[in-house]
Amino acid sequence: ADIAMYRDKEHGRNSVRQFIPEMGVTAISRLNMEGAMRRGLERGEFKLHYQPKIELASQRIVGAEALVRWQHPQIGLIHPIEFISLAEESGLILPLGEWVLAEVCRQQVEWKAQGMGLVKTAINMSSRQFRQEDLAERVAAVFAQTCADPALVTLELTESMVMHDVNSTLVALRTLKQLGLTISLDDFGTGYSSLAYLRKLPAGELKIDRGFVLDLESSADARAVVDAVVKLAQALGLKVVAEGVETEGQANVLRSLGCDELQGYLYAKPMPAPEFEAFVAAYRASSQTQLTLSAG
Ligand code: C2E
Ligand code: CA
Ligand code: CA
Repeated sequence: ADIAMYRDKEHGRNSVRQFIPEMGVTAISRLNMEGAMRRGLERGEFKLHYQPKIELASQRIVGAEALVRWQHPQIGLIHPIEFISLAEESGLILPLGEWVLAEVCRQQVEWKAQGMGLVKTAINMSSRQFRQEDLAERVAAVFAQTCADPALVTLELTESMVMHDVNSTLVALRTLKQLGLTISLDDFGTGYSSLAYLRKLPAGELKIDRGFVLDLESSADARAVVDAVVKLAQALGLKVVAEGVETEGQANVLRSLGCDELQGYLYAKPMPAPEFEAFVAAYRASSQTQLTLSAG
């Protein structure tokens, strides 16, 4: 049902869609799926889509989140809800996650060569990747091979992942921060956070979960949580990003509460790199026109 709903949203909502097995690899046996993913990785069937992050104060695009997709030759575009958990269980998330990092690094170097300007890109890291003993060495090796700048890459880790085993997490996070990466706590507010540890974490950003943003206009509770998270982040010197922003109303509340950056369908859906580049260029051109108009 979830997959059918997802397909529906992809094709513009407001319609009914029934699940048929061809829609999702969840219907293929696990064994087939693992094999297909492994071959997909070798054949370069995985792609990254980029969704812009807009800074409220400047109204500029300051970053992006890279979201993985699987372009299956027969099935078509497959979203991460359909394959990430199996990738985690099977261990395939390790080569997949490393590919994601390398691809973001490659893209950063290309954007720099194109003169696109700074777009700090975030990648999602799964707990299995994060628990690798040699994670920091592996990450450092990718940056060395691709010559990408770690200052332009953010690692998104979920709050629950980080809070799970705090002491070993702290060591890993400090090493990653020393490499120059920014750490962001994803889905913030949904997990169980120890405020005592939050203070010690070398994180640079909190990402408010989409669930709170969704209810922002209708629920005083959701608003109170976001208000508290923003104040907490400000007190700890962290940046706050809200994800899943779909309406002007939500954006206005988030602005009034002091949120730093917004990400969501209100601005743009995640898109392939060439479309993303065109979007950034058009967005910059239109805000330039607006600036000129308001100045004139
Ligand atoms: P996430 O990290 O919470 O990513 C945000 C999800 O919300 C994305 O779904 C994005 O397309 C969607 N989204 C963004 N704006 C809006 C909005 O305004 N409204 C709504 N309804 N949705 C919005 P996506 O791309 O399907 O990814 C789902 C999850 O899969 C991600 O959740 C993340 O946990 C995981 N994922 C994606 N890429 C990777 C990856 O490269 N590695 C790992 N380990 N996980 C990934
Ligand atoms: Ca994320
Ligand atoms: Ca999230």
